[in-house]
Amino acid sequence: MKADGAFDYIVIGAGSAGCVLAQRLTASGDNRVLLVEAGGQDRNIWIHIPLGYGKLFSNPKVNWLYTSEPEPELNDRRIIQPRGKVLGGSSSINGLLYIRGQAEDFDHWRQRDNTGWSYQEVLPYFRRAEDQERGEDEFHGIGGLLAVSDVCEPHPLCEAFLAAVQQAGLPLNDDFNGPTQEGAGYYQLTTRNGRRWSTAVGYLRPALRRQNLEVVANALVTRILFNGRRAIGISYERGGAMRTAHAQGEVILAGGAFNSPQLLQLSGVGPAPLLKSLGIDVIANMPGVGADLQDHLQVRMQYHCTEPITMNDIMCSRRRQLAAGLRYVLWRKGLLTIGAGYAGGFFRTDPSAATPDVQVHIIIFSADTAGAALHTFPGFIASVCQLRPESRGHVRIRSTDPREPPAIQPRYLSAPNDREVLTRGLKLLRRIMTQPAMQRYIVEERAPGPGCRSDEDLLAFAREVGTTVFHPTSTCRMGSDLNAVVDERLRVRGLERLRVVDGSTMPTIVSGNTNAAVIMIAEKGSDMILADAKAGSVAAAG
Ligand SMILES: Cc1cc2nc3c(=O)[nH]c(=O)nc-3n(C[C@H](O)[C@H](O)[C@H](O)COP(=O)(O)OP(=O)(O)OC[C@H]3O[C@@H](n4cnc5c(N)ncnc54)[C@H](O)[C@@H]3O)c2cc1C
Repeated sequence: MKADGAFDYIVIGAGSAGCVLAQRLTASGDNRVLLVEAGGQDRNIWIHIPLGYGKLFSNPKVNWLYTSEPEPELNDRRIIQPRGKVLGGSSSINGLLYIRGQAEDFDHWRQRDNTGWSYQEVLPYFRRAEDQERGEDEFHGIGGLLAVSDVCEPHPLCEAFLAAVQQAGLPLNDDFNGPTQEGAGYYQLTTRNGRRWSTAVGYLRPALRRQNLEVVANALVTRILFNGRRAIGISYERGGAMRTAHAQGEVILAGGAFNSPQLLQLSGVGPAPLLKSLGIDVIANMPGVGADLQDHLQVRMQYHCTEPITMNDIMCSRRRQLAAGLRYVLWRKGLLTIGAGYAGGFFRTDPSAATPDVQVHIIIFSADTAGAALHTFPGFIASVCQLRPESRGHVRIRSTDPREPPAIQPRYLSAPNDREVLTRGLKLLRRIMTQPAMQRYIVEERAPGPGCRSDEDLLAFAREVGTTVFHPTSTCRMGSDLNAVVDERLRVRGLERLRVVDGSTMPTIVSGNTNAAVIMIAEKGSDMILADAKAGSVAAAG
């Protein structure tokens, strides 16, 4: 098969969603699929060692390295916005936590007129995707292509946190993806035998041998090609040469929450005034493309620990580093196997809330910012993020050059409710951290520190240090209202043979980490694409 030729399906972006699509659409052997990825192969060793994720924050070979516009409610700071640019996309550089969100999130999607997306209807896709180390039950599946594992061993700081949660009168929970999300426990990770389980590893690799799949890496898709309102192919740049590829079936955009709206806008699908101001011919005036950006804002409290049991202590000692490395190589155990959070929890900051409204992460190292050098003293972080932000931002192209990053403006904390919930979340976190079980490990709260007392102080701290937990969504939102970009079958509204299948399509952000929900969307989206082709109703959205 030649990449310049014609295919049944063209998938743009080999990220969390794109690799699932490539796997599922080629499984029968009937469809010729082209998967085009801007990044390269996932050969960097730090991709595959879970702890290595800290090394990928500033590596342009695997990361788009976006930053936001100055954020007005965060003292005009620009917030880093890493995104995977490599096979596996953000699933190759993420923090590996396996969290699906709350059942109520999906019921809410359904209530917003998205037929087929209630919790009961998406649960089978979470289960189908999963290969759960603990085995199968009503909520979990085995034999799927996404490995989900427990952390390899308990850690004293996490044990203290769980005891402190109980001392604070809050519940424990040993399965955040089971009957209820509320409570504290250890996180499960998308790993197997101590190795990262990206969608490139789990979904794409087993499909690579198939004759009907062509993967073109290091290729930037510059435009979706249209004949009238029908998507017919793509143009892309590889090695300095421009190429085109045509799809007889559909073009499926899986570029993620920043790049999917960017590519639609570059291709003439987006808010007409923006496109016209840049001289782009308007194929469809869709104000919702790039609108409704949602993300989780995280605030990290830093603690000086009484004992040398943190990652800081390992990283500042050659001997301990060697021992940790050896333990990993020999037994795939120890600190190299951990993800972005070790333990954590989901809590209600307001007893009248129906479900948890904040998430807590216990991170057994400390640094001034994400990806920065670790402190040289024993230290750890406890962070809080609000789960259902009401703030809405946007993604907008600035030029017709596909290489120029779009303007990303999340508008964190612009909704009053978000400021209130986050402040309450910080107070709740402090309540836990000041319980006896936790206090025995704390020399001092380094940030914000004892001088930060009132609600105003806490909010000022959040404005000063708050940063993303890397969960942008909803910029090509599913729905039936005028701002919705795709319908409930993920077809771009008003156009033909074009879908978006990735995190940008979430009607609202889920209450938790986003990778599992993106994979679920792609699992379900693949079924829809195949079913529609069978029924002869290929992607012609109303
Ligand atoms: C640092 C970090 C930590 C995170 N931690 C967690 C976590 O612990 N748990 C969790 O559940 N979630 C986490 N997430 C979020 C989660 O990984 C993402 O929500 C999810 O991977 C998004 O999937 P996607 O398919 O929408 O986009 P992506 O996985 O980002 O895939 C998009 C792909 O499209 C490619 N692409 C884009 N534009 C083009 C173009 N024009 N031409 C060709 N290719 C293109 C990109 O290079 C990329 O490979 C984290 C994310 C990051 C960045």
